[in-house]
Amino acid sequence: MSRVLVIGCGGVASVAIHKCCQVSEVFSELCIASRTKSKCDALAAKLAPQTKTKLTTAQVDADDVNQVIALIKSYQPDLVMNIALPYQDLTIMDACLACGVNYMDTANYEPENTDDPAWRAIYEKRCKEAGFSAYFDYSWQWAYREKFEKAGLTALLGCGFDPGVTQAYCAYAKKHHFDAIRTIDILDCNGGDHGYPFATNFNPEVNLREVSAPGSYWEDGHWVEIPAMSIKREYDFDQVGHKDMYLLHHEEIESLAQNILEVQRIRFFMTFGQSYLTHMKCLENVGMLSTTPVLFEGHEIVPIKFLKALLPDPASLGPRTVGKTNIGCIFTGTQNGQDKTYYIYNVCDHQASYREVGSQAVSYTTGVPAMCGALMLLTGQWNTKGVHTVEEFDPDPFLDALDRYGLPRSESFQPVLVD
Ligand code: NDP
Repeated sequence: MSRVLVIGCGGVASVAIHKCCQVSEVFSELCIASRTKSKCDALAAKLAPQTKTKLTTAQVDADDVNQVIALIKSYQPDLVMNIALPYQDLTIMDACLACGVNYMDTANYEPENTDDPAWRAIYEKRCKEAGFSAYFDYSWQWAYREKFEKAGLTALLGCGFDPGVTQAYCAYAKKHHFDAIRTIDILDCNGGDHGYPFATNFNPEVNLREVSAPGSYWEDGHWVEIPAMSIKREYDFDQVGHKDMYLLHHEEIESLAQNILEVQRIRFFMTFGQSYLTHMKCLENVGMLSTTPVLFEGHEIVPIKFLKALLPDPASLGPRTVGKTNIGCIFTGTQNGQDKTYYIYNVCDHQASYREVGSQAVSYTTGVPAMCGALMLLTGQWNTKGVHTVEEFDPDPFLDALDRYGLPRSESFQPVLVD
């Protein structure tokens, strides 16, 4: 029996809340809190007739640490699930520390305003030291390690699919299939079609920043950075077919490189269609992906925020998206002195997700792991204190929960490798 506070009520949070409500014996009370309370009220009203979980709602601006502290103090949750945006990670972590509550999220911190001079100075120093220039990285949240340890609290970072399940796949491969992992290729394929010439499957601002950044991968103990979209491969995905995929920087590479010490190379690939890339390049070229405010007819406008307002709301893609996602990891390495390859992945159907929870598979494949991660913390199966990423915990109960709650694993012991 636990009491959980969920912050955020967008595409991913809505799936996570649906799934929590299917496990009322653990999630007995849940407060849905977000900036726009009417969305929380609508979701609570939809779910109340189908669940034993006692649902309440609240309004909170999670950019304001004092508002989050006040809400936590009044609701007294056992866990705060941050499923708002990466911009709020640090304020919510601060509030959890102030109130003595465990924390989890689905994406690592990045600032909303990348022009802020104080942030920029730290960022530029980090770029030089670390060797990659993506706006998002773990250093901000890893800086809380000692504080969470001392407070006897757990912060679980990045518990969606990627990051999240992909790291559990790595921990599982290491635990059951390899003595030493040589290479990891994380492959994220969305074979879905929503019928629009251009739309993003999750928050457009976060998504477009991520994919327009330079790509990078980990090799022989350091980062190799490449121009955005400059490494392309084709792969034949189970139940999806042939797709073009591109090497991106992705946050789990950073933690995996620290936690799977012997690994020689870690790469992340994501599939994109030509239409998406052409639109993105054009928007980038005309300045629409910029986070720097411009003055237009006396009003300050942030181009990427204005673009977000024009694009379809990712939550509205559910009914019209058909096809499947296929996300997983291919490993090479050795076991008992023998070379070995292994591929573990999940295939998720957009329409089946929509029928079950009213959302497309990109939200589904993120929201289900968020619920399963919360389940691990609330049932004490994951209880290491401090700030941790998913591969640092026992993957077995988590993957069993994913199998049970909608994201079953598939395996192959002779996969086609990516060159
Ligand atoms: P949405 O934009 O659909 O939803 C974001 C929600 O956060 C909205 O309810 C929004 O409220 C709320 N919110 C925004 N700012 C604040 C604030 N200051 N205070 C309180 N609430 C706020 O995003 P998604 O659901 O698509 O994404 C949610 C998270 O999941 C993101 O961090 C994203 O990066 C992550 N993600 C992780 C993936 C993974 O595999 N690990 C994959 C996909 C996404 P309002 O409606 O008022 O704007």
